[in-house]
Amino acid sequence: MAEVILETKGLSRRFEGLMAVDAVDFRLEQGEIRAIIGPNGAGKSTFVGLIAGRIAPTSGTVAFRGRDITRLSAPARVRLGIAYTFQITNIYAEMTVAENIAIAAQSRRGLFGPEAVIREAVARAAQTVGLSDRLSDTAGVLSYGHQRLLEVAMGLALDPELLILDEPTQGLSDGEIDGFVTLVRHLAETATVLLIEHNMDVVMALARRITVMERGRILAEGTPAEITANPAVQDAYLGGMSDPSG
Ligand code: ADP
Ligand code: MG
Repeated sequence: MAEVILETKGLSRRFEGLMAVDAVDFRLEQGEIRAIIGPNGAGKSTFVGLIAGRIAPTSGTVAFRGRDITRLSAPARVRLGIAYTFQITNIYAEMTVAENIAIAAQSRRGLFGPEAVIREAVARAAQTVGLSDRLSDTAGVLSYGHQRLLEVAMGLALDPELLILDEPTQGLSDGEIDGFVTLVRHLAETATVLLIEHNMDVVMALARRITVMERGRILAEGTPAEITANPAVQDAYLGGMSDPSG
């Protein structure tokens, strides 16, 4: 059995009257690609926000490699190796591709990390996502798909042990999605990947296990075959998969 890299116990977040995340016990094994699926408003983004430290829990704990990180700031978690790319594109449009990636690289290694180390991290991340020839372009002029890839490169420049991707294929073309699937497989050779994803083709192509969330709770968890065959999942979620607004 592989090492548990991440574990939450009773993790909860209330927004006014609403339990957006409700007492979630969750474990992730080192090296796996885990997909989190579930309808809009199920609490997926809040849950990964709690893991990344961008949202404070109402109660419960988060442990990374056996260490309680519940009270650590998001930047401190980044330095431990937890990287999070946002659902909403989060690049600096006025800066170049290289500068955007360098900011991420520096936030892991400290502002005074050796310049050569930062430059090498930028080059490596850009090459992995296929943006090597765009390094000096202003990020704002990139196509939407390339901006999403830039975000992934920024996540990679953090040199993560756990990479959290929140709906990374949203708005990508079919060709870009194929490239993304290949990219995540490559990333998973060195990192654990936690992927919130609506596109079930992408989920089925990538995930070793799938966690289904509904109303802040885990409704089901299992292999793609188990989840596909789960009647509760079919009722609650898969039946509504054709809803394009999902
Ligand atoms: P998902 O990512 O699965 O679509 P979210 O985690 O974004 O779900 O949201 C879960 C629930 O929490 C939703 O009902 C949403 O409206 C609510 N919510 C999320 N963020 C906030 C916030 N900052 N303030 C109040 N309610 C929020
Ligand atoms: Mg979301």
